[in-house]
Amino acid sequence: MRINNLFHSLLSFLFDNRCSVCGEELEQDDVLFCKGCLEALARNNLQLEQTDELEFIIPLAPFDDVREAIHFLKYSGWKRLGRKLGVALGEKLSRVDFLREFDILLPVPLHKTRKRERGFNQSLIISEGVSKTLGIPVAKEIVIRVKNTRSQTQLSEEERGKNVNGAFSVKAPDKITGKNIVIVDDVVTTGSTTKEITKMLKDAGARRVGVACIGRPKNKGEIL
Ligand SMILES: [Zn+2]
Repeated sequence: MRINNLFHSLLSFLFDNRCSVCGEELEQDDVLFCKGCLEALARNNLQLEQTDELEFIIPLAPFDDVREAIHFLKYSGWKRLGRKLGVALGEKLSRVDFLREFDILLPVPLHKTRKRERGFNQSLIISEGVSKTLGIPVAKEIVIRVKNTRSQTQLSEEERGKNVNGAFSVKAPDKITGKNIVIVDDVVTTGSTTKEITKMLKDAGARRVGVACIGRPKNKGEIL
């Protein structure tokens, strides 16, 4: 992780003043993306994917378009960038009518050890941005991560399912029963983590559960 940090600090220095997409010079308030390119992410390619287990998955962008941004957020602690991505995701979600019926945003929790190492939960940072645009409150501490699972990156879909099995626990069932909940994550790949949380929320009486994320590797999915 340390080498990663160093690498990203270096990259951040190189990227400092230019938009990573169009190369335009950034205004003082911009981070990695200029306003136009960030707005384009929010505006373009609204994808709503449905599976047997997940009512919906809505990403801000294909993973390749936000890979760098997610790395900067997670490994260099660029929280301001995370919030901006969250705001853009919130703008995208505000175009989906049925989301008006949703009650809370649930950031995927980090295990306390991981949170101590990183210093923050990237999904919470993203959720705060989403909440700002979408007007749905962020629920903290209603679900916790009880198992410090190993990184999913090198695991197969089946192994990922096993890895996250029993990893979460409901802390406040009264805040879940009868509620419509959007789980917020930085990246959704196989969806093992979000499926596990969904199952648990449903068992605790949640009515509807869906997922919003910043990056999603391109595959199936209907373009709206
Ligand atoms: Zn740009």
